Amino acid sequence: MRVQRVVLNSRPGIHGTPVAENFRTEEVDLPDKLNAGQVKARTLYLSVDAYMRLRINDYTGIDFMKPWQLSEVLDGGGVGIVEESQHTNWAKGNYVTSFNWPWQTKAILEGNTLEKVDPQLADGHLSYFLGAIGIMGLTSLLGIKEKGHISTGSNQTLVVSGAAGACGSLAGQIGRLEGCSRVVGICGTDEKCSILVSELGFDAAINYKKGNVAEELRKVCPSGVDVYFDNVGGDISDTVIRQMNQNSHIILCGQISQYNDNMTPFPTLLPEVESILKTKNITREAFGVLEHKDKFESGILQLSQWFKEGKLKVRETVINGLENMGVAFESLMKGGNIGKQIVRISE
Ligand code: NDP
Repeated sequence: MRVQRVVLNSRPGIHGTPVAENFRTEEVDLPDKLNAGQVKARTLYLSVDAYMRLRINDYTGIDFMKPWQLSEVLDGGGVGIVEESQHTNWAKGNYVTSFNWPWQTKAILEGNTLEKVDPQLADGHLSYFLGAIGIMGLTSLLGIKEKGHISTGSNQTLVVSGAAGACGSLAGQIGRLEGCSRVVGICGTDEKCSILVSELGFDAAINYKKGNVAEELRKVCPSGVDVYFDNVGGDISDTVIRQMNQNSHIILCGQISQYNDNMTPFPTLLPEVESILKTKNITREAFGVLEHKDKFESGILQLSQWFKEGKLKVRETVINGLENMGVAFESLMKGGNIGKQIVRISE
């Protein structure tokens, strides 16, 4: 069986900006027969994610995350439908997902590496299992619950950076659902700002590419910042930290502004900013969603319930075709997405 796949064509270099040409589409033959325990699945949706910037390097900086190898098929979050099965858990027509789905139009997968997808949980939107009703929703929800110290009635102001992206757009909404009285987003275009406020219920949004973020932030957070959901790091985060209150909390989710410059996912802060954390007793502990797998099942149910009740709005940017995986990744890293960046591989 002949299928298409995407391999790593070249590395941008630790300090380079990834481009679509770092990826290459080619054809390959899959075996016709399955071994015991295997399934053949057709790929429906694939995810491109910010953490993949680290996998393009020949060293990721994270022990449990392996770098992608040149000319080998790439992998990440995926959803597909089983076409043939030699595994007792799976039958033709089942929807399945995996964090390590190969970037192929069809794939032969070990049945015991797959998780079941119940389309009902997302009202049939299968791509949501890569975003809001999947790892991105869990990252936002569990990040807030584990590190946010949010309590209803405490009049807390939440600031979210990368606010119009997959995690950020959910984190702001979840912060509100968990009890924050004011929610402010920081993102990279006026269109994104307008969507945050008019569709996703943020109180205010700041375009960090325009004007003075510190001044704008002071205007829209008159009582200072109590919780900061940090997706980006760098100058934006330094600016937010300078306006954080005594005993406030940072949810250290990601540092995307640093991924093209650093080999570590959580680079050290400027000494001046570090000293603000100490003086104001601000917590800033790294959050890793994969360390909280015991809470995934209940988390997915919570996200699904909020979505179905209309309390959690979901935004996606969808690009079609396996050959566009590289285009989608380049666009994500440059801010081309609103909500979760998805690639639709087949219907
Ligand atoms: P997003 O959907 O948020 O997409 C990335 C966004 O980052 C872009 O749309 C862009 O939006 C913004 N961005 C890009 N470069 C910069 C920059 N230099 N400065 C500021 N913003 C920038 O991606 P994800 O939701 O997949 O990831 C968001 C963060 O969450 C990442 O840091 C990722 O590593 C982290 N993450 C952490 C997890 C964990 O377990 N801790 C799990 C999953 C993700 P804009 O137009 O606003 O610039």
